[in-house]
Amino acid sequence: MTAASDRAAELSENLRALRARIAAACEAAGRAAADVTLIAITKTFPASDVRLLADLGITDVGENRDQEAAPKAAACAGLEPPLRWHFVGQLQVNKARSVVRYADVVHSVDRPKLVRALGTRARDAGRVITCLIQVDLDPGPDPERGGAQPADVAALADEVAAANGLVLGGVMAVAPLGEPPRPAFRRLAEVAQVVRASHPGAMMISAGMTGDLDEAIAEGATHVRVGTALLGSRRAFVR
Ligand SMILES: *Cc1c(COP(=O)(O)O)cnc(C)c1O
Repeated sequence: MTAASDRAAELSENLRALRARIAAACEAAGRAAADVTLIAITKTFPASDVRLLADLGITDVGENRDQEAAPKAAACAGLEPPLRWHFVGQLQVNKARSVVRYADVVHSVDRPKLVRALGTRARDAGRVITCLIQVDLDPGPDPERGGAQPADVAALADEVAAANGLVLGGVMAVAPLGEPPRPAFRRLAEVAQVVRASHPGAMMISAGMTGDLDEAIAEGATHVRVGTALLGSRRAFVR
């Protein structure tokens, strides 16, 4: 077997196991497996892996750094059906112009300045970007990981919904460290409900990674973002 076919077999097996895990979590929660979309988080892995995943039926791919995502998305252009690219990392305003060119969904919208930059750049590019409000679920001070305070989410959601070139998709969060994930994901579900009360179309809840996707699905996640369980451990980043 060639290295490429070894990798294809490895990804295929990982995906089979992951789909089974997602299906079991859905069943335990009394939810339909079709209600949860798997986003393959491909950061640090090459475009060749993204193409193999597309061959295996993956439709949604996520990245967290523009410098890595932009060339990878370009290297995967022309796939049929086209992949949906999700930007899940903290985003600087000066990267908005690049990100709106390839991203269909930005999960990390957490401040008004970023809403304005994404709106302007999306309109300039003639694109419509689905935005999720990233919610900071950590009750303590959490300067590192981004996210709006829960009390600020409704106003930010209104700003996204009012912006031409942007569509409000829903909410996103990363579980805080040092606390079991499930109560945190329950707080996210409550924030999602507040948003939906004003914006009924904003149905997305992006929550759950390799370590906690079962708890996220139990608390209503519609999109899980999985890297390690699908692609393996990430090496120290080289670029
Ligand atoms: C890397 C990353 C993931 C995937 O994490 P795994 O634990 O490898 O599944 C999910 N969400 C975000 C925001 C990430 O940066």
